[in-house]
Amino acid sequence: MKIDRWCKIVQSAIVGPRCVLCRAPAPLDPAICSGCRAELPWLDRACAGCALPLPGDAQTTHCRHCRPTPRFEHAVAAFHYDEPARWLIARLKFNGALAHARVLGDLLGTRIAGATPESERPDALVPVPLHPAGLRRRGFNQATLIAERLAQALDRPVTPRAAARVRDTPPQRELPAGSRAANVRGAFACRGPSPAAHVAIVDDVVTTTRTAAALADALRRAGAQRITLYCVARA
Ligand SMILES: [Zn+2]
Ligand SMILES: [Zn+2]
Repeated sequence: MKIDRWCKIVQSAIVGPRCVLCRAPAPLDPAICSGCRAELPWLDRACAGCALPLPGDAQTTHCRHCRPTPRFEHAVAAFHYDEPARWLIARLKFNGALAHARVLGDLLGTRIAGATPESERPDALVPVPLHPAGLRRRGFNQATLIAERLAQALDRPVTPRAAARVRDTPPQRELPAGSRAANVRGAFACRGPSPAAHVAIVDDVVTTTRTAAALADALRRAGAQRITLYCVARA
């Protein structure tokens, strides 16, 4: 058993990085082969204000919730919340597969860079914070790890301490739709002034935008003028 494990370690050192999905040899960054990359559930048509998927034949840039007032200055999601993006995110959050944060962050970064002119990019990236108790339980914040990769792709700073989660709220997905708004209201607070006038909130999965909206409220109270939303997957 021990020898088998060592064989695998030596083998991976010789053959180099492997695809996070099929284990075939892959480039180091992002560690996903071109075949698996093409099979990911890329989100090609989405609302520019909240990243909600739009029908392929939609004649509009914004969903009905974002007309006339978009929920966010700009919003980009790389993927539909479908397999295997869902699996990559779950393994990152619940099994500590940190390599997945690098892959997902790089793929999202490429998406954003392609969709946003340099002058329209936010000036700082704010990952959705975990409550200190949640951070202790998990040991890391997946949104921060993803934002760190975006920071490299977009050449913008990540400011993980700009905001804090001041209430330890249960995950939104565990609650009935009717109580989700109250669950996150007032959940966030900024420690000081907003890190920039234009900031991007970064999260792994966005389902209802309520969590991001609650964080946006806190950032606006701290002086942010424009708030963009970046997420790996949009449900
Ligand atoms: Zn692969
Ligand atoms: Zn929208």
